[in-house]
Amino acid sequence: MKYDIHFAIAGLIVYVMILVNLRIQYNNGQNSVIKLRNLIIGLFMADLLDIVSAITIAFSEYVPVWINYVTNTGFFILEALCMSLLPVYIRYVLDPEHGKKSIIDYINEIIVGIFGVICATSFLTKLVFYFEGREFKSGVLYDLPYVLGIYFILYSFIRLMQSKRRFSRRQFATIVGFICISVSGSILQFFIPGSVFVLYFVFSIAAVVIMFGLETPDNIRLEKTLLELKRSESNLQEALERAQAADVAKSEFLARMSHEIRTPINAVLGMNELIARETTQPVVREYSADIADAGQALLALINDILDMSKIEAGRMELTETNYEPAKMLHEVNNILAGRFEEKGLKFKIKNNPEIPRVLRGDDVRIRQIIINLLSNALKYTETGSVELMADFSKLDESHIELIMSVKDTGIGIRDEDKEALFESFKRIDLEHNRKREGTGLGLNITKSLVEMMHGFINVESVYGEGSTFIVHIVQEIKDSSGMGLYEDMVSKAGSKKYKASFKAPGAHILVVDDVRTNLMVIKGLLKQTEITVDTALSGAECLDIIKTQKFDVIFLDHMMPEMDGIETMKYIRDDKSHCNQDTPVIMLTANAIMGAKELYIDSGFEDYLSKPIDWHELEQILVKHLPEEKVERL
Ligand code: ADP
Repeated sequence: MKYDIHFAIAGLIVYVMILVNLRIQYNNGQNSVIKLRNLIIGLFMADLLDIVSAITIAFSEYVPVWINYVTNTGFFILEALCMSLLPVYIRYVLDPEHGKKSIIDYINEIIVGIFGVICATSFLTKLVFYFEGREFKSGVLYDLPYVLGIYFILYSFIRLMQSKRRFSRRQFATIVGFICISVSGSILQFFIPGSVFVLYFVFSIAAVVIMFGLETPDNIRLEKTLLELKRSESNLQEALERAQAADVAKSEFLARMSHEIRTPINAVLGMNELIARETTQPVVREYSADIADAGQALLALINDILDMSKIEAGRMELTETNYEPAKMLHEVNNILAGRFEEKGLKFKIKNNPEIPRVLRGDDVRIRQIIINLLSNALKYTETGSVELMADFSKLDESHIELIMSVKDTGIGIRDEDKEALFESFKRIDLEHNRKREGTGLGLNITKSLVEMMHGFINVESVYGEGSTFIVHIVQEIKDSSGMGLYEDMVSKAGSKKYKASFKAPGAHILVVDDVRTNLMVIKGLLKQTEITVDTALSGAECLDIIKTQKFDVIFLDHMMPEMDGIETMKYIRDDKSHCNQDTPVIMLTANAIMGAKELYIDSGFEDYLSKPIDWHELEQILVKHLPEEKVERL
């Protein structure tokens, strides 16, 4: 045969493989993939016609010359057409949605049209090819298809280079490789004998390169996903900003609400305490005890809700101090022993006497944990006893694991309920618990606090027999001598009769609050201590009074109209003309939300006392800040 068509046949096989691969792997409806498929089909058809025409020419003695004209005309037209499909494909690579056309693309289409006409009329004009007798002859424009092919390849290359930055280095290397291979194919065909058909084989290799390098479906999917991710990221950011704004609003609302609710409770509980102390009528004392119970329950509820929102907002913080576990147990006993007694339950606190005498940790929160567990034991036990056991195990020279367990003989917890126990707002075993008040927040708060202290909480329970809650937390040792047996230290638990813990007849303090009842409450609470209590109803009045009188301690309310506590404090510290420069100023606040304490300390306050005022705390804070020589312990 006159022509060597082996390479052309190999090219056909490669095109078929590419088409199969496109069908199987890249079948994603992407525009660029469709255009690549069209290009490959075009190349396949041109290659096929090249082979067919080579055969018909080889056997021209047996084939009518018009057939040779048809096959060759078809081949030349297809050749130009399929090469013009390359820029179309590149257009869709660059603009997958619309494959935007430039003016040159329109001009290219015209060029292909003109070339098609030239080829189709070549049997008349002999411009591209013609037959002399039965022999194939090249016309003057015979090389035009190759020149056009090279032009379309270079044009595509330029288009790609213009958008170079959009491609990764790997994609860019692919593009360069593709162009080099295709151009070298045209050049090769130009220089090797025309009877060896290599062009379409080289193109098929270039097509493989571009298919695997540029049309990577995984890459495209990845890019799409990245785009979606970016979009959802900005949505998330917006949602986050909205949520943060809502969170700030919530915190502000909570701060305001806590103040608004605590202020009247403060007045109610304070006045009630005065009634209980001063009345001689047993029935009034009973009523007052009921008011105290209800008030304390309301307060506990508000505190729980505030704690929960602090925990949820990630704003709960621990404040570590040195503390004596014995004192903490004593406080717990003071708060709860009476309530166990009232319910007819035995209440015992036991401890390992070797527990270090002074530890470092957040004793206020540990006390809260124990009180939560003991309050539950009290709530869910009708007969029998409740026992608090404090134990420890030594971790290293400076740390112990404090183990507190609260054991009751109450209603117990079913095995299947144990998991839900620590979820917020979750109350279990409702058929038995309907009559018992509760929010389902206590154990959730307890667990969160324990976890903040890098500890854990366990529960063991037999339904109908009782439960034991065990808390493990790590604490630092500050004095390793043993605390001794708690039972030996306690004189008599649960004594409800008030007795002041100290007297300070020579002390003189000032209390500033815009609510008159609050002033009366503090005055009343301090009656037995014999402290002289002066009062002021505003910041301005306070600034007036301190000019002429020296006080041992000043209590300043936070939320006051016109000049609030913090502003008043600023004036007290800035004004050097009065005689109370060194007087400790203590913030009185109903604002129990987080960050408040830091705010007060930063503003120059010595300490703060939260409302409703607890007389224990009031007395403790006074003992701490009054001059020692004026305090007479009772
Ligand atoms: P609350 O007591 O306000 O309902 P908690 O979070 O403190 O919420 O407790 C969740 C649930 O766990 C309670 O509703 C109760 O059913 C159960 N529970 C807690 N402590 C005990 C206990 N000592 N004995 C039996 N059940 C308990």
